[in-house]
Amino acid sequence: MPTTLDWLGCATFRLTTGNLVIFLDAYIDRVPSAAPTGMTTDAVTQADWIVVGHSHFDHVYGAERIAKATGATIIGSYETVRIMDAQGVPPAQLMPVAGGEKIRLSTDVTVDVFPSQHSCVWSSQPMPASDAVCLGELGVNYQEQQAHIEKLWDRLSTLGGEVVSHLTVSAQGARGDGGALLYFFETPEGSLLYQDTSGHWSGILQNLRPDVAILAAAGRGNINGEPIQGSLAQFVARQADLLRPRNVILSHHDNWFPGFSRAIDVAPIRTELARWTPKTQLIEMGYMEAYPVFTKRE
Ligand SMILES: [Zn+2]
Repeated sequence: MPTTLDWLGCATFRLTTGNLVIFLDAYIDRVPSAAPTGMTTDAVTQADWIVVGHSHFDHVYGAERIAKATGATIIGSYETVRIMDAQGVPPAQLMPVAGGEKIRLSTDVTVDVFPSQHSCVWSSQPMPASDAVCLGELGVNYQEQQAHIEKLWDRLSTLGGEVVSHLTVSAQGARGDGGALLYFFETPEGSLLYQDTSGHWSGILQNLRPDVAILAAAGRGNINGEPIQGSLAQFVARQADLLRPRNVILSHHDNWFPGFSRAIDVAPIRTELARWTPKTQLIEMGYMEAYPVFTKRE
């Protein structure tokens, strides 16, 4: 059986390689207004590992239920682990990381963890269209960023009762993103980079050479702590240029939180990728497609 990837909406995927089942994030149970993906956490019967990119609810919510039901081990930031511990996940199933670790997942599969950056949710345009060129907002200090994020939470809570009740159960932590992480999987079939928010350290990305890269396409991109001076499409393409993967798979680009998120138009991303890295193929996945991730498609 080839290694397969199921997209479960937002930035959540299920990677099946050999006899291992690895969840990349765990946000499967979404707001009722988001399109169903064909899966709920209750339906998950097998998971060996759950890697969590960062601690926001739209990434970590669900990991606690999958871990308890399957015995899977959760790999994530110290904040992710703190939240999961508070939710009653046994400590033996929690592996805190900060970047720099190589973890053996099976006899022939490993994952390397790298520090990363979160998209600029504090930006005046936290969810721009993929071709909207955003400029300025450089040098905004931490306290100013936090004040913007407070306002954003206030705005989310005006979206209606279903949204508020969803946030009440899903927003399990109160310490922000907890530090974003990148995961680099190596399997006998190939290597896969996983990113779940549009940010990076360029000095780290430029030394990674995955066969396939899952890149987040949502929000104002963050490069080394500052917002990209340009569009989201340019941000994704610039990352592909640093990584030079054979294939790029997008994440976080569906309308995962209607009223706040938007369905990202992929066409400008395709255009910018063709300009920056013409040899890289953009793969557009639907939900639950069991895509053979390392099988070349021309
Ligand atoms: Zn986030």
